[in-house]
Amino acid sequence: MTIGRRQTQVTYAMVAAVAILAYQFLPDQAWWLATWQVTIGWLATAAIVLGARRQAPGDRLPWYLLAAGVFSNATGIGVAKACALLWNLSDLPTPADPFFLGLYPACAAGIALLIRRRDRWANGTALLDAATITTGFGLLAWVYIIDPINLVSQMDRLAHAVQAAYPIGDLLLLAMMTRLLRSAGSRGPALWWMAGALGTLLLGDSSWVILDNLGAPGLALQETPWFVRILESVFLVAFSLFGIAALDPAAGTLAKATQEDATRLGPGLLALLTGASLIAPGLLALQVHEGQVVNGWSIAIGSTVLFLLVVARMAGLLREVERQARQVRDLARSDELTGLPNRRAWNDEVPRALERARRDHLPVAAAIVDLDHFKRFNDTFGHPAGDRLLKAASAAWHGTLRSVDLLARYGGEEFVVLLPGADAASAYEALSRMLAATPQGQTFSAGLAVWDGEETSEELLQRADQALYAAKARGRNRIETPVA
Ligand code: GH3
Ligand code: MG
Ligand code: MG
Repeated sequence: MTIGRRQTQVTYAMVAAVAILAYQFLPDQAWWLATWQVTIGWLATAAIVLGARRQAPGDRLPWYLLAAGVFSNATGIGVAKACALLWNLSDLPTPADPFFLGLYPACAAGIALLIRRRDRWANGTALLDAATITTGFGLLAWVYIIDPINLVSQMDRLAHAVQAAYPIGDLLLLAMMTRLLRSAGSRGPALWWMAGALGTLLLGDSSWVILDNLGAPGLALQETPWFVRILESVFLVAFSLFGIAALDPAAGTLAKATQEDATRLGPGLLALLTGASLIAPGLLALQVHEGQVVNGWSIAIGSTVLFLLVVARMAGLLREVERQARQVRDLARSDELTGLPNRRAWNDEVPRALERARRDHLPVAAAIVDLDHFKRFNDTFGHPAGDRLLKAASAAWHGTLRSVDLLARYGGEEFVVLLPGADAASAYEALSRMLAATPQGQTFSAGLAVWDGEETSEELLQRADQALYAAKARGRNRIETPVA
């Protein structure tokens, strides 16, 4: 099955490659050229529809939209030729423009649907990245293409709108492409074919735009037949890449989410974001250099938006770093097996608790708890059963304590308890409740000491430890206090 699919994809790719190559050697007759281009576009449409029909019925819509976009654009080539040859129509807008323009909303909608399936729209970092890149290039497009359109005054309003629609459509595709590449979905050949198709389309469109803005040298190239043919081929390649993406055996994964982390900021992306952000100051510098700042307001607004986007991105990264730091700190302070605070957390916490007790003139008690004959328990029931007992005992003991009390695993089968506000009697009671709650008929011995108001936390624990020693010596399953 998969081999068959791969074969279809490879066959289609070869047919498309040969057709595009042959296009370079076609006789210089307008009808020939137009028919050939339209055929390659329709072939790509058929390939995308074929690929779509391999997907589950619910997954086909994005591909049908892409197919509609490619079909519309390719058909536009024929319509444009017909307009020029039959009716001598060449001024903007021509009946071909709706066909050409149809590509943008259809493709953008198709890709938007894919992105939605790949991850949540709420993927904030991916949105910010796409917005930054689109804003940077949007400013460039505004300053050099969209804004100047209005200066060419012999055009009517509709013509203005149609001409501006092309770069806006390109920006839409650029936004979708960056957003697609930044989405959390699976990364494989299908994604790269799709990104290649969009990138090639943008390359073709921006080449026309750059030529339009070059003046005389641009015109010379635009009227050089072999060059025009190569440029037209760029679009044929883009159509075919959509077809290859749709026929990829793994095309279905384009609409699948993965656990990939989209917050990663690799060197390539960082360079791209930096470049996009520097477009605004770059434009300003250029216009200052040319002696006249023509687009001051646009550049000011563009820089402001870019600056805010960069700050938002930075804030996102900072929050992520803080979250990870918190996670690392929590991990470092808790015991893996029982989930209780560990010795490190205890050592941090106790001096602070003693300080509070000193300030509030309240008593505080500390105890060391050590399971009795735990080695024997392990030897009898196995080490995993010993682990389960440690967990169950921790939970049971924790359940008998107040929320202000601190129970920590000190190491092995030794636990420590801090009882703020407890005098000797109430601390003894608390320990007795813990002893009674010990699961599976097991017992512990405990040494309990009440803080003398002067000693350090180490000295307090040392006295509790001596009491524990006494408890073990006197037969276990008991709570002892130090002899005064
Ligand atoms: P005592 O009543 O004198 O305290 O005897 P005991 O056997 O409890 O004391 P001992 O110090 O001789 O042995 C402690 C045992 O606790 C040995 C060790 O294998 C076991 N132990 C320590 N940490 C863990 C653990 O994380 N999981 C399990 N299953 N056993 C542990
Ligand atoms: Mg021990
Ligand atoms: Mg023990």
